[in-house]
Amino acid sequence: LAARPAPYLNDLNPEQRKAVETMDGPVLMLAGAGTGKTKALTTRIVHLLNTGRARPNEILAVTFTNKAAREMKERVGRMLGQSIEGMPWLGTFHSVCVKLLRRHAELVGLKSNFTILDTDDQLRLLKQLVSAAGIDDKRWPARALAGVIDNWKNRAWTPDNIPASEAGAYNGKAPALYKLYQTRLKELNAVDFGDLLLHVVTIFQQHDDVLQQYQRWFKYILVDEYQDTNVAQYLWLRLLAAGHKNICCVGDDDQSIYGWRGAEVGNILRFEKDFPGAHVVRLEQNYRSTPHILAAASGVIAGNKGRLGKELWTDAQDGEKVRLIGHWDGEEEARWIGEEVESMQRGTRGLRAFSLDEMAILVRASHQMRAFEDRFLTIGLPYRVIGGPRFYERMEIRDAMAYFRLVTSPSDDLAFERIVNTPKRGLGDKAQQKMQLAARQNGVPLAQGARILLDQKGLTGKGATELAKLLDGLDRWGRMTGDNAISHMELAEIILDESGYTEMWQNDKTPEAPGRLENLKELVKALEQFENLQGFLEHVSLIMDNDSGEAGEKISIMTLHAAKGLEFPAVFLPGWEDGLFPSQRSMDESGLKGVEEERRLAYVGITRAEELCTISFAGNRRVYGQWQSQMPSRFIDELPEDHVEVLTPPGLYGGGYGAAAMDSSIEARAAEANVYNSPGWRRLQARSGQRATHQPAEARNSVIDATAVSSHTMGERVFHQKFGYGAIIGIEGDKLEIDFEKAGVKKVVARFISGADD
Ligand code: ATP
Ligand code: MG
Repeated sequence: LAARPAPYLNDLNPEQRKAVETMDGPVLMLAGAGTGKTKALTTRIVHLLNTGRARPNEILAVTFTNKAAREMKERVGRMLGQSIEGMPWLGTFHSVCVKLLRRHAELVGLKSNFTILDTDDQLRLLKQLVSAAGIDDKRWPARALAGVIDNWKNRAWTPDNIPASEAGAYNGKAPALYKLYQTRLKELNAVDFGDLLLHVVTIFQQHDDVLQQYQRWFKYILVDEYQDTNVAQYLWLRLLAAGHKNICCVGDDDQSIYGWRGAEVGNILRFEKDFPGAHVVRLEQNYRSTPHILAAASGVIAGNKGRLGKELWTDAQDGEKVRLIGHWDGEEEARWIGEEVESMQRGTRGLRAFSLDEMAILVRASHQMRAFEDRFLTIGLPYRVIGGPRFYERMEIRDAMAYFRLVTSPSDDLAFERIVNTPKRGLGDKAQQKMQLAARQNGVPLAQGARILLDQKGLTGKGATELAKLLDGLDRWGRMTGDNAISHMELAEIILDESGYTEMWQNDKTPEAPGRLENLKELVKALEQFENLQGFLEHVSLIMDNDSGEAGEKISIMTLHAAKGLEFPAVFLPGWEDGLFPSQRSMDESGLKGVEEERRLAYVGITRAEELCTISFAGNRRVYGQWQSQMPSRFIDELPEDHVEVLTPPGLYGGGYGAAAMDSSIEARAAEANVYNSPGWRRLQARSGQRATHQPAEARNSVIDATAVSSHTMGERVFHQKFGYGAIIGIEGDKLEIDFEKAGVKKVVARFISGADD
């Protein structure tokens, strides 16, 4: 082959060139963040094409997100100086597997036009099976079963090879139900996400001729972010590469952040065993970040045990230290970041001017986005949310809002349709058709049609009882909007509670459920800034409108997980507080595994920044109207001080927190002062082992009484704004069951209760 000029090679350092030019045999590129792994991988594709080693459709290249795949395709095109049409096998694991499965569907009993179920469809199907098996969905939610099955599929376990140790899952019924589920899927000519890989692996394992065909076809295999592959993906790759072994994997053990979804960092550590004689390339020069940012990231990740340990260096200018700032509370944090972003656009604190496209906010949990979205909308700062729906587009938020909409405007039929059977009320398609008919025939809104249907006894049984409850509830909540004694936040919580919506997620055993509950709490928190539900709903419809397409510069908001592989000149990392980051769940786990994965996430976060990295935390966060003192994240302690500059929170000296400054409680003062500088307070908090709760004056004076949950006792006489006096007869988390003197027994949220003599 005539050697064509390869100017793109000149952009690489010697190690990267080795990874690109070693075209035959297995290559592993194991290196830290920002060392140019993805760049080398992309260049390798270009080089394979340019040297005629492979045609575009003979290269299999997998990445983890569609965004990453798109970018890779574009870069290859740019380097080659022509657009790359036929790279059908460059994509995510899922997109590549869909193509393969369509071609060979019949080998696993499917037709090539199979449908791919989304998680909702999957759940609906499982629910049918669970109920047909006579299992109580309340005790053993179908969602839990869905979680088990997903997990097994990630491990490439078909119904016939579930290990005995796993057979006890879902009350011992999971293996049989899994088998039933797979049979049912085949009858429906459908697959779920997990099946895409699992079926292809099965086909490869059972049909050697098919496997060999692809082993020959895919002359070169390339994998980015290899540390996050799960067992099924790993098997799939190993099978495909077994022939020619031209496989190049790149990754970083320090960035393995999908253990919770079955990813096995062991896959990367095992590479040399799986592919003897592999060329291992190590890259140590970081081209992305300044020395301060690198040192801060290295300092944090050093806290993990059992690392391969990699040295990183850069010849970039020192630049800015990592900036650390503590805030009074979460809203203040969002306000400060909003202002800082605006000043950074102009150039502030002696820094260069940054455009919005150059900035990103990376959060640990998606519910943290809400405060920023609201703030940015208020100040008119354009933003985009990457890798997931924006806060107000999330399923649980839309459900909750549908309830609110119905309460403020009972004729909102779309809202009614959305929630009439969410949570499940036994009001399936048939029942809903009857309601539609009744509404149409009488020329009234759906909710009213439903009432007529009930009055005419057009519906019976559980569905009728539940529908009556819902309609009564809607009437009652509607009347409460006019009741001055009840704040709209209180009302919102009553609605979510009494409708059974919150409970639905509390009973949900999927990994997403806690996040959804957090989002609901966050929603109630958001209400606080508005006068009533109506005002809030208008605000949200504006937010939805604000989505002015892709045009124009925007700051990006995303989770740390979604930020994998990306880079931005300026990065904000808010919410570095124990319980938030590291997450409470990881801290509750026995052993260090959970916190170590969180620490890797911290490393991923810091290393996204090129020039400026700003970490922040809040001293207080409000959870259900109750103030909670936050401990700064343990990861903040691990930041090497030489590389950190502590900024002064705006409220500290003579600024906005008059009331709080007068609060003499030690937590309040310490939270307001920059906590990073008061180790004494931290030790004090650590020793007491408990999160103190306190309320700033502002919260104390508000209508809502934020009495701590634990302060209630059985039998205590209490007062509720709406129901009057009563005695506590049950305590269940933050819910109290109260026998009211006039209103009878009711369940209410603890914070709406005050002591009878207050
Ligand atoms: P991560 O682990 O975060 O995925 P990575 O190792 O994949 O990082 P890249 O994204 O490929 O790193 O590269 C980081 C930055 O460094 C990019 O902006 C890239 O263009 C630049 N870069 C990579 N290699 C070189 C090089 N040899 N010379 C100059 N710049 C480079
Ligand atoms: Mg990369």
